[in-house]
Amino acid sequence: MKLISYRVHRWFCQITDLTTFFHRLFFTVIHAFKDSRFVLHAGNKLSRFWLVHFRKKYVQRQLHIRKGSCHQCGTCCNLLFACPMLTKQRRCLIYGSCRPQACKVFPINQRDIDEVKLCGGQCGYYFNNGYSENATKERDFEMFH
Ligand code: SF4
Ligand code: SF4
Repeated sequence: MKLISYRVHRWFCQITDLTTFFHRLFFTVIHAFKDSRFVLHAGNKLSRFWLVHFRKKYVQRQLHIRKGSCHQCGTCCNLLFACPMLTKQRRCLIYGSCRPQACKVFPINQRDIDEVKLCGGQCGYYFNNGYSENATKERDFEMFH
C-alpha cells in the first residue's frame, strides 16, 4: 500500500513538473516572438503588401497627408533583409523600371517611420498626427474595411 501511494505521489510530481515546464516554454516562446525584430519587420512588410494592393484609397490618403522628402538613406531597403537590388552606393537597380509598389509609397504611416528609427535611421518623411493610439486604431480599421 505504501509503495502504491509512493508511486502515485511520484507520478503526480512528474506531471506537475512537466506542466510547469510546458507552461514556461509556452510563455518564453510568446515573449520571444513579441520582442523579435524579425516578426515585427515581417509583419510590417506583410501589412504594406496588403495596403498597397488592397487598401489603395487608404494609401492615397496617407500619401496626401505625408510631409517631408526622401533623402535616400536606404534604411527602408534594409529592414528585414538587405534588398539584393540595392547597390553599395545605396542606389536601387530597378528604380525606374519595376520597383515594387510598396517601395514607391514607403513610408505609408507612422509605423513605417518608427520601423526606420528602430533600425537606426531617420526617415525624411513624417506625419503630423504622429503615432497615437487613435492613429493605430484608425489604420487597423482602414486595413480591414
Ligand atoms: S527594390 Fe529598390 S527601393 Fe525597393 S527595397 Fe530594393 S533597393 Fe530599395
Ligand atoms: S527611410 Fe525614408 S528617407 Fe530613407 S530612403 Fe527610405 S523613404 Fe527615403
